[in-house]
Amino acid sequence: MNVHVNLEQKAKQNLLGMTLQDLEAFFTESGEKAFRASQVMKWVHQLLVDNFDDMTNLSKSLREKLQQIASIDAPEIVFDQTSTDGTRKWLMQLEGGNKVETVYIPESNRGTLCISSQVGCALDCSFCSTARQGFSRNLTSAEIVAQVWMASRLLGKDNRDDRKITNIVLMGMGEPLLNYENVLKATEIFMEDNAYGISKRRVTLSTSGVLPKLDQLGKESEVSLAVSLHAVTDEVRDSLVPINKKYPLKELMASCRGYIKNQTAKSSHITFEYVMLNGVNDSREEAVRMAKMLKGIPSKINLIPFNPFPDSGYECSDMKVIENFKQQLINLGLVATIRKTRGEDIDAACGQLVGKVEDKSRRERKFEQPRYGMN
Ligand code: SAH
Repeated sequence: MNVHVNLEQKAKQNLLGMTLQDLEAFFTESGEKAFRASQVMKWVHQLLVDNFDDMTNLSKSLREKLQQIASIDAPEIVFDQTSTDGTRKWLMQLEGGNKVETVYIPESNRGTLCISSQVGCALDCSFCSTARQGFSRNLTSAEIVAQVWMASRLLGKDNRDDRKITNIVLMGMGEPLLNYENVLKATEIFMEDNAYGISKRRVTLSTSGVLPKLDQLGKESEVSLAVSLHAVTDEVRDSLVPINKKYPLKELMASCRGYIKNQTAKSSHITFEYVMLNGVNDSREEAVRMAKMLKGIPSKINLIPFNPFPDSGYECSDMKVIENFKQQLINLGLVATIRKTRGEDIDAACGQLVGKVEDKSRRERKFEQPRYGMN
């Protein structure tokens, strides 16, 4: 597989990040029939081919033409690690040298791929290690989709009856709503029948609450929404999720209500993520306040045990406190679950993604050789 971009390829259009509509425009502008778009889309995203020669239902001349004007170009995988619990983490090196991480979390009844939307993050949440590296740049739609394409290839055959990746969550590095256009295109490709065909219930975008964009998303997309709540007073949320100073809780809740109103599916709900920080946001009063605040919003609360990293300054709440908090929410009529921590031994858990592999002396780590094929 050619993962290096040479100068000649630079001018070519990378098909990985194109929606069906983009591909149709691309083909008609190149003097071809629009229906080629769905054919090529299936080759790229369902059969996971990386060259035009394999596209046997295209004429030889069209294949040669595509060779000249288009590419299927994914970043290079520089690390591929598997945790003792089966969680697998990849580090991708992008053009220009930046790196981002992608995590695969297999469970008995599903396989979730957690993907990144930006290099680093600008939001500076105080309990997240990605924040420490600051913001470098947005990923292109091709770089976002490439994470799913590459993972599908590396995980082996991903046909529709026996899928390895059943769910995609935008919960890796970055704030997806600050890279709105590219993220929206990528989610369209995930949900597109000619591509991955994953249902909208299984494609989840997680945001800290960039409100104008959240309102726009509600009107333009049907992806499932997760909101990083983490606190129930502005005072605490200001200190954990600084964007709260710009878009405080009252406005966030109004936007969430609006989002639900715009969704056509009756089963729509919002997942509220709540990191459990010892002595910071885990009291009984806070559970009561949460129930009041979320009243009328179809919601699921996902309590996330805090994943530590060096010098974070926070501790995870006791498991007993987390259990009690959950039970209290349930008693107050909410749906609440505790997120199982996965991939801790390879720093693949929530908030531990930093896109680098230095500092490995902290723990004994096992690196698998990077693999580049469909084997
Ligand atoms: N920018 C998006 C996606 C971030 S990551 C957002 O803010 O939603 C997904 C989730 O992991 C978020 O809820 C985030 O707040 C949470 N998270 C970040 N650092 C964490 C940590 N150290 N422990 C547990 N959860 C963390």
